[in-house]
Amino acid sequence: MAKTIFEKHSLGRKGYTLPANDVDVSLSRCFPEKFLRKEEVKLPDVSELDVMRHFLELSHMNHCIEKGFYPLGSCTMKYNPKINETLVRNDSFMNLHPFQEEDTVQGALEILYELQKDLAEISGFANVTLQPVAGAHGEFTGLKIIRAYHKLKGNTHKKKIIFPDSAHGTNPASVILTGYDVVEIKSNERGMVDIEDLKAHIDDETAGFMLTNPNTLGLFESQVEEIAEIIHSVDGLMYMDGANFNAIMGLVKPGENGFDIMHFNLHKTFATPHGGGGPGGGPIGVREDLVKFLPVPMIDKKDGKFFLDYSHKETSIGKVQSFFGNFAVNIKAYIYLKMLGPKGLRRVAENAVINANYIQKKLEDHYFIPYKDIYCMHEFIASGKWQKDKYGIKTLDIAKRILDKGYHAPTIYFPLIVPEAMMIEPTETESKETLDEFINAMIEIAKECETSPDLLKEAPLNTPVRRVDDTLAVRQLNVKFEW
Ligand SMILES: *Cc1c(COP(=O)(O)O)cnc(C)c1O
Repeated sequence: MAKTIFEKHSLGRKGYTLPANDVDVSLSRCFPEKFLRKEEVKLPDVSELDVMRHFLELSHMNHCIEKGFYPLGSCTMKYNPKINETLVRNDSFMNLHPFQEEDTVQGALEILYELQKDLAEISGFANVTLQPVAGAHGEFTGLKIIRAYHKLKGNTHKKKIIFPDSAHGTNPASVILTGYDVVEIKSNERGMVDIEDLKAHIDDETAGFMLTNPNTLGLFESQVEEIAEIIHSVDGLMYMDGANFNAIMGLVKPGENGFDIMHFNLHKTFATPHGGGGPGGGPIGVREDLVKFLPVPMIDKKDGKFFLDYSHKETSIGKVQSFFGNFAVNIKAYIYLKMLGPKGLRRVAENAVINANYIQKKLEDHYFIPYKDIYCMHEFIASGKWQKDKYGIKTLDIAKRILDKGYHAPTIYFPLIVPEAMMIEPTETESKETLDEFINAMIEIAKECETSPDLLKEAPLNTPVRRVDDTLAVRQLNVKFEW
């Protein structure tokens, strides 16, 4: 490995040229003596070029979509057009202040208004709030609305939110945060909600049901209307986790098949890159009679002018974020929606689904595919079960070997209900050539499990950092370079 920046240290070498300081910056005038450092900070003396090489090299060590295929299931790591980034950095957006008079920000308000309307249109809901800034934050907001709904109706006995065992971990976490009890039900052998188990868990205390559609097994839950009928019969509400909306946008309107509330992940579906923790967007849409509970303000229009609407503040659950969520993320979603239009959005979903089915089909003789009776949606689950049973190779080993081939690994060991799961989501932005290369790499790995199992146990071999001890790293994290 190349020398680190610390090892390039050479006493007196400088990476900057600044005039000598002629101001008294004696720190003891600002801080008590006891807080001041006694020794110099031990930083390397290096040239500007050394610094450039250091940061460029670091940037190459990480994987990103611009570097290679990134089939991380459930995360929709697609390529986001750079034009969105350029446009959103325009001074007309970046120099705005959220406290400006409405008259001076009509353009910005129009964009937010249109985004509320467009998201409502493609999902089939009455209106949409742009405040939540993550999928989990959308879930929290939606569950608060379920609470507000029951409170207003005097449904004081409502205590439980039900969800299937394939749910993403944020679902139960959000349920707990909003003060409800979690009730987990089983998926059936086809990977869908088990209706009989659902019926067995329904009672007067049921406040609502959370369902991801398509679900985390990559399957479209075709029984949504029947489920909605069951939930509505006890006056529960249907919440849709819309993190996987990339598979169905322009094709299905969840608000028209039984769902009452849904969140979008702007950072998965609508052109905000992610990974590394943000910033994101998790707007939620609701049916007509729930609009009065949405966070304030909403953006509305009257006599040709856009304004901040606080009119339902008595019934609103209140704010869940300052101003209008992540403004720049919302702008990017707006540009993406307008650029693609209705037909383009539909093609995104269709291609995402075709790409996933293509890989699934090509891999079915090489890896165990637990649910293949029906077409998958934008992602599918493969399992390393055969490799484990025959050669003692774990899915973790396979995932590490995938890194050696230049790809990001799929999501592994999730969903929890499939042993040795690998969740593969290619997204619509990849070419057939890339998919074929990935398929070949996966087939090669399956062969290596048979011919050179030791290689897999040692993988990765060509990454900047070899296999780390996850457990030790969690307990004794040491990121300090000693020199
Ligand atoms: C990503 C995801 C979430 C959570 O979204 P965040 O923006 O990470 O909070 C919830 N459910 C599913 C199915 C997801 O894939």
